[in-house]
Amino acid sequence: MRHAQRRRERERAAPEPEPPRQAAAVSWVEQLQRSAGNRAVGRLLRAPAGITVHSGSTLSAADFAAKLKKNKKVPDWIRQSAGSSGASLTMGKLTPPSGRIWLFDDALTAAFRSGNWELTTAKSKIEVKDNGGVRKWRQMVTPDLSKGERIGFYMKTGPDETTFSPTPLHSESAEVIYGWTQPDTATNKRQEKKGLVVIVTEIEVVRPDGKRKVFKPGPDVMAEAIIHEIGIHAGRIAMGRPDVHSDTDSSVADVVEQIGGFFRPERTGGGLDKSPLTKEIFAFVAGGK
Ligand SMILES: [Zn+2]
Repeated sequence: MRHAQRRRERERAAPEPEPPRQAAAVSWVEQLQRSAGNRAVGRLLRAPAGITVHSGSTLSAADFAAKLKKNKKVPDWIRQSAGSSGASLTMGKLTPPSGRIWLFDDALTAAFRSGNWELTTAKSKIEVKDNGGVRKWRQMVTPDLSKGERIGFYMKTGPDETTFSPTPLHSESAEVIYGWTQPDTATNKRQEKKGLVVIVTEIEVVRPDGKRKVFKPGPDVMAEAIIHEIGIHAGRIAMGRPDVHSDTDSSVADVVEQIGGFFRPERTGGGLDKSPLTKEIFAFVAGGK
């Protein structure tokens, strides 16, 4: 639900040339045609498109698929198409019902077809301090990657030298983050850039009096986060559309409402209600149980 707006804009201002993915796919198909014949190739090309689940994720591809398939609030047309294949979360052809204008089905499809996204779980920590009567929030989201693996970027520090610089995902806004989408990111174990979608499974909160509590997002919060991050951020980035939450342009806000509306009721006076977990965390920070 939260994204490194400034960082993303900077990175997207200077796009890297497209990797030669297309060429590799063609020779892969040709090779397969020679060895397996046209019918097998056709079957494979019709297979649902996938997003790789990172080996460090605490949820498998099948677990992520189940978060969508088993939640009755997720629309049937997504539940029926979601699945998994090995380490990939997959999405078959989406056929949303007519009679309503859908704002994210094409983006959701694009994210799964782009082949450039990875998915993993994350743990987050919110620390709220009292600074002379002013509450100061600091929230760190740590993706579950392989042991010792961290996301960041490589800087050229000399003629023959690059240095890895870690980029922690963090926010200082008074908000609860359930997912984060970070495009074009490398890790200290992988120079190649990929997009990373993270879904938060555990939130540790430390409030001003030092009391701490761990919260776990339930099925609705997780399903909304998965569809939000992939169907809005990863998908719109894959399509070259703006995905930043903006106060002046409602195109992203409209999609947020459409997806959020599957899970959260309308507030009297407009807009969607906050999730029960968000309310619980704010109440805890404010001094409640
Ligand atoms: Zn968002």
